[in-house]
Amino acid sequence: MLDKFQIVVIGGGPGGYVCAIRLAQLGFKTACIESRNTLGGTCLNVGCIPSKSLLNLSEEFDKIKNLSSKGIEIGEVKLNLSKMMKSKDKAVTVLTKGVEFLFKKNKVTYIRGTGSFKSKNEILIKDDKNKETIIQTEKTIIATGSLPTTLSGIEFDEKIIVSSTGALNLNQVPKKMVVVGGGYIGLEMGSVWSRLGTEVHVVEFLDHITPGMDGEISIEFMKILKKQGINFHMQHKVEGVKKNKSGAIVSTTDKDGNQKDFECDVVLISVGRKPNTNGLNLEKIGVQLDEKKRIKINKNFQTSQDNIFAIGDVIEGPMLAHKAEDEGIAVAENIAGQSGHVNYNTIPGVIYTKPEVASIGNTEEQLKKKQINYKVGKFSFMANSRAKAIDDAEGFVKILADEKTDKVLGAHLIGPHAGELIAEIGIAMEFGASSEDIARTCHAHPTFSEAVKEAALSVDKRAIHS
Ligand code: FAD
Ligand code: NAD
Repeated sequence: MLDKFQIVVIGGGPGGYVCAIRLAQLGFKTACIESRNTLGGTCLNVGCIPSKSLLNLSEEFDKIKNLSSKGIEIGEVKLNLSKMMKSKDKAVTVLTKGVEFLFKKNKVTYIRGTGSFKSKNEILIKDDKNKETIIQTEKTIIATGSLPTTLSGIEFDEKIIVSSTGALNLNQVPKKMVVVGGGYIGLEMGSVWSRLGTEVHVVEFLDHITPGMDGEISIEFMKILKKQGINFHMQHKVEGVKKNKSGAIVSTTDKDGNQKDFECDVVLISVGRKPNTNGLNLEKIGVQLDEKKRIKINKNFQTSQDNIFAIGDVIEGPMLAHKAEDEGIAVAENIAGQSGHVNYNTIPGVIYTKPEVASIGNTEEQLKKKQINYKVGKFSFMANSRAKAIDDAEGFVKILADEKTDKVLGAHLIGPHAGELIAEIGIAMEFGASSEDIARTCHAHPTFSEAVKEAALSVDKRAIHS
């Protein structure tokens, strides 16, 4: 029998580990149980970090190949995929070890093993040798994250039919890859392999990519990706995948009922992720799930049992690491009697392709649906001096502001460093700023951020450089 804890966190991903650290900072005797061999969850091990490492390395590879037109002559550029994968793995190891160090520093007890509820106040932990231990706890935070979903009858083998996890670990560059689903994972991983030499075909069920994103950005994004050589097959439903000697055949039906097969050597299934609640024994202790099998919570992240809480991908909302982290901090502070909260209107979403795509707040489609009158300010990176100087000028910034009050209601960017530029708008929105507030803030020259200022000026039709 291990010690009794005040709070146990199940899951050491960005939701769970951040929550455990904050709880320990607030003085609670805290343990965090993680079933993987390393901390950091999906994000650090098989998500955000390895994908961003490969996005960066493949972008460098692509850039270097095209430098001679800019007067930088290099010899033949060759890909060493196994070295590239090792570099990605190193980034993962450094960061997951870093979380372990933070646990030590903050005195969080780290327990390796798989946790499940024996009762409302007892957690059963099985280690990888099936040895069982029971710990007692006053409160528990469930932060068990999510897993890739597949389509009916299609199973991952992580070699030919891969989820994002397999797509991050291929040991050779596929000649042809079919990506099922034009969302975050499909477009990021499709970009990686396309840059490394694969012929990539995205098969998407809808008539547009990145559902939920501002429509104008989604159209521009697809145009740019097509120019980069990615092929799109829209309004095609995947009916099945059959493996053959050399790879697989993906069978699809388009909106008019025409059938089309795609032969390829690797299929990436990226049609979303599902909450991971299996094996926790939630039925036994009466923790309820919603219709999508997510854990039901109230505004304090409390489940149907008042000493059990849930955060991150396992509850409703966008499946994003920073959303999970903010929920981890909010629930810890609430438990400590403080006023933790998450503003779901200002959670940015970023796709780390080239160019990056970033979005915050309402889209035009949402504002129309809510019947809110709004003004639009837009500024193209083609007119931004920094972007032109370095020949990286695709995309634009779009700011949406209330027609009467000028309050910023949303912003959508496609272009260089969009994922960094969105933070300025996040702060503006948190402070209830107007587009004029952004427009009157001095931005350094020459920077990409001047495009944000000009978009804000453009809300009142007074942009200077367009
Ligand atoms: P997770 O990170 O899934 O962590 C849950 C942890 O709980 C896991 O480590 C799991 O092993 C553990 N666990 C589960 N059950 C048990 C149990 N019974 N006992 C003990 N431990 C258990 N988000 C972004 O914001 N930015 C990105 O760039 C980004 N890129 C991504 C790229 C890919 C390829 C993928 C797949 C996801 C990406 N995401 C990104 C999403 C992000 O990874 C998730 O939203 C985030 O990891 C959710 O955090 P979490 O703590 O809720 O869950
Ligand atoms: P997604 O929800 O982003 O996209 C899934 C896509 O698949 C949608 O466009 C959907 O219309 C399409 N689809 C669904 N069924 C289909 C079918 N039968 N045939 C063809 N297309 C079909 O899901 P994802 O790309 O798997 O990513 C999962 C989640 O992981 C994301 O929603 C995001 O929350 C997170 N993620 C975030 C980042 C980031 O922040 N940069 C990166 C990767 C993943």
